Amino acid sequence: MKITDLTVTIFAWDNIPARSYARHTGTVAAGSSEVGLVTISTDQGVQGHSFFGTNSRGAYMDATTLIRALKPLVVGQNPWNREEIFQKMWARNLHTTARCIGAIDIALWDLCGKMANLPIYKMLGAYRSSIPAYSSSEVLPSKEAYVEEALRIKEAGFHGYKIHPPTNYEEDIVICRDVRKAVGDDYRLMLDPSLAYNYIEALQVGKALEDLNYYWYEDPMDCDDLTNYVKLRQMVRVPILATERSYGGFQAMAPWIMYQATDFLRGDVAIKGGITPLVKIANLAEAFHMTLEVHHGGNSTNNFANLHVILSIPNSGQYEFLLPATTQNYGVIEDIKIGKDGHVRLPNPDAPGLGAEIDFGLIEQKKLEVLK
Ligand SMILES: [Mg+2]
Repeated sequence: MKITDLTVTIFAWDNIPARSYARHTGTVAAGSSEVGLVTISTDQGVQGHSFFGTNSRGAYMDATTLIRALKPLVVGQNPWNREEIFQKMWARNLHTTARCIGAIDIALWDLCGKMANLPIYKMLGAYRSSIPAYSSSEVLPSKEAYVEEALRIKEAGFHGYKIHPPTNYEEDIVICRDVRKAVGDDYRLMLDPSLAYNYIEALQVGKALEDLNYYWYEDPMDCDDLTNYVKLRQMVRVPILATERSYGGFQAMAPWIMYQATDFLRGDVAIKGGITPLVKIANLAEAFHMTLEVHHGGNSTNNFANLHVILSIPNSGQYEFLLPATTQNYGVIEDIKIGKDGHVRLPNPDAPGLGAEIDFGLIEQKKLEVLK
């Protein structure tokens, strides 16, 4: 069995509202982005699919390198040799992006799942059928807006609420206090300044969060600032969650564990290079009795791929729902939704592969270009 072709169909994602999540995303005006549909074809007629591109990082940013650097490594290979293909792709990671490697890896898992007539989480080895979900905010215009949203999210049944704050540290502390007061002592809260603070600011906020009983303190400082993470973790009692954006993939987790710079590991299928390395990160975390808290995937098929990984591992606590849904959900017929119990499940848990029903009609209608 052989892979005979790999194409990328770029299609428009229009009418995205203005949004801001962090200093590294900036504030993006309302408008359009684009998604790339990866299609891997075989000599047996079966195809595998995945999307790359997000609301703020259009697929054109990665598409050329996916075709030039990675397609030649994939065409002609046996799709069941996923590990071999992954290692060949990762060896080129300095000449492409983890997002491109991830998109191909996910499409290969989708393809193999379809051939085996099994959903990916069952190929990996199923552990559970659902997981509690939390919601994470955009950067909102006022402290009142955070309080109002936190109450609404709690009411909607989510198991927790994560604040992406304006990242002025004194203002952020006030927001964290007001939200804690509004939702009560028992509701799960997290803070994610997305790499914005220096050490002194991170320390001030961390001290406030330990008094407010926040569940985790995510990426307070730059993702290459291991030295200050080690110091900060010794200075504050609130658990630190780092490694979402740390440079590199699976192997880059080693120093964070060895130097005890974080309490959790973090990653998703896009930033870490696919399902294959994300499962390895989870297994590595398990050996150290740590959990892997999976970052949202930025688009619909990445979120499906993340959920398959979560359903196959014991050491993950919750699923991230980034607000609003209109910046995440696009291009599939039925997306992942929260249930009445505050858990998420696959819409069709028996569907083979990713189990995401791709909206090919929409893609045809919004098609910009096919890269070969
Ligand atoms: Mg984050």
